[in-house]
Amino acid sequence: MNQFQYVRPTKQKAAIDAFGREADTQFIAGGTNLLDLMKRGVMNPTKLVDINRLPLDRIDRDKGTLLIGALALNSTVAEHPQVRQLHPLLGQALSAGASAQLRNMATVGGNMLQRTRCYYFYDTAMPCNKREPGSGCGALEGYNRMHAIFGFSDKCIAVHPSDMSVALVALDATVLVSGPKGDRRIPFGGLHRLPGDTPQRDTNLEPGELITAVSIPDNPFTKNVHYLKVRERASYAFALVSVAAALHIENNVIRDARLAMGGVAHKPWRLTEAEKSLIGKLATEATFRQAADVAMQGARAFKHNAYKLKMAPNSIIQALKQAAAVA
Ligand code: SF4
Repeated sequence: MNQFQYVRPTKQKAAIDAFGREADTQFIAGGTNLLDLMKRGVMNPTKLVDINRLPLDRIDRDKGTLLIGALALNSTVAEHPQVRQLHPLLGQALSAGASAQLRNMATVGGNMLQRTRCYYFYDTAMPCNKREPGSGCGALEGYNRMHAIFGFSDKCIAVHPSDMSVALVALDATVLVSGPKGDRRIPFGGLHRLPGDTPQRDTNLEPGELITAVSIPDNPFTKNVHYLKVRERASYAFALVSVAAALHIENNVIRDARLAMGGVAHKPWRLTEAEKSLIGKLATEATFRQAADVAMQGARAFKHNAYKLKMAPNSIIQALKQAAAVA
């Protein structure tokens, strides 16, 4: 591991000032992803700004929203009474992520900023445009079993690994950010980027911008929700495909719907057209199959991940059935 400067400010402004405009500075909180990346030489920051002393771990109701501080731990949020009551989909997604030990260390802000688990990204002997722009993409013609079926480019076909983010994009969350130019709010769907020609950029955050909280508006999705995660072993594995499904059902008619997928794109993949196809329909398996067909339009596989073209629609149908409690 390279040498680096380490600072631990106690004020938000001091943390942002300490970051400065240096491209090789990183904020660190739980460190559950960044430390691995540093040990492997994938990321080599020259300065770490430890934000653990900032007062950013509160979970509060505020004007029709639930505000969750960026330093709230994944395990705390998953078990929080208001999360369980108001946004059970988020609790389910968080509980599906990582291991109990990691959930006790990982923060909400860090969870959304974790980096892809593409094997070539972690192997510094292999080409990777995300790690080293212009070096090529080892996965394109390599072993691409975990990789994207939507939204990829010829520069990068990696997928975003967070479960929590799939629920947050489905729930229309907003990310609160503070930076050298002041505060701003980013709709969750605009936080992460598609790879395009700049796969080295995972998000639309500017240098020195710090995520301070995430805000989730009240919604009617308190009952008929399900987070389905398909993975290679029962725990502590990243999703091959995941689905966040939330339905508002009255008299077996779907009044509103939210649907997003993980493990299929460089960002949490919201399925707005499929959501529209559900509204006003009976909550039946036939309706869910139709939505899955809509959701899969434009999907394309690579040599080793064609199984996702079947797994993804089947997962959507299953998640919607579970959410609606349809046998
Ligand atoms: Fe790197 Fe993306 Fe290619 Fe993986 S898919 S090797 S992360 S450029």
